Amino acid sequence: MDVVSDVAEIRARLQGVPRPLGLVPTMGALHGGHLSLVDAATRHCATVAVSIFVNPLQFGPGEDFQRYPRSLDADLQELDAAGAHVVFTPDAASFTPPGRLTSVVVASLTQRLEGSSRPGHFDGVTTVVTKLFNVIRPDQAYFGEKDFQQLAVIRRMVADLDLPVTVVGCPIVRDPDGLALSSRNAYLSGEQRVAALQLSQALHRLSQEWAGDAATAVATLRRTLSQASGVRLDYAEVIDPETLEPFEGVVEGPAQAVVAAYVGDTRLIDNIRLEPAGSSPAA
Ligand code: AMP
Repeated sequence: MDVVSDVAEIRARLQGVPRPLGLVPTMGALHGGHLSLVDAATRHCATVAVSIFVNPLQFGPGEDFQRYPRSLDADLQELDAAGAHVVFTPDAASFTPPGRLTSVVVASLTQRLEGSSRPGHFDGVTTVVTKLFNVIRPDQAYFGEKDFQQLAVIRRMVADLDLPVTVVGCPIVRDPDGLALSSRNAYLSGEQRVAALQLSQALHRLSQEWAGDAATAVATLRRTLSQASGVRLDYAEVIDPETLEPFEGVVEGPAQAVVAAYVGDTRLIDNIRLEPAGSSPAA
């Protein structure tokens, strides 16, 4: 497995590699969620590239860019064992230099939910993901449904700009007790981790009780999480999985429940699919 930081060098390394070429963009501090994307990529693609880049453009002022967990040596060992072929580790000073003048912006979809709580976040994501697509030129790119809105935004960007890449969404990987794996879970104390479990528990309960009434479901979810001890709710909504618009009345088709909350200083997100009332969940 090769580890390359320089743009010209990674382009040269990927010249003529067996296709399809898969890309898994990450910010490192890898866990089973990331590795599930690498696993999907190795099953579909002849060559697998992983990027590790803690993208400064997607962090707002006062967010956790400086203290974001970094564990490059351990990450590289895991990626080697998982069968990745190339790891791209650009450095921020040259990949996102202060003097750059160009951004890639997806309108409207990026304004709600995460975008409303983290202004500019998605501009940072789409700008850097476009750069990664442009440098790596993958045939397939793998993203987790854990970042549900991010996946929708990237699909939309790829469609709108006719980018020659297929976006593959992969299911959320959870700990056995239901907590969605996240690099930010490393910030949680034992007690906070127990508090954080209330997010996935509330979502799970909602998906079991879901009868298609969005107003009731949202009210229950908000009440549960507002009263959850050690949790400060940011948002809880039931949305259309394609448009991300909130549902308010009776929902006939699929829906997605999405939540964001703080546990201590740690901001966590989670989501779950709500199958149409009366249908059995997908296997
Ligand atoms: P990050 O390093 O947090 O930027 O995440 C890199 C990629 O891994 C994104 O596409 C995430 O959605 C995905 N990812 C993060 N956590 C999980 C998880 N628990 N299950 C599946 N995918 C995940």
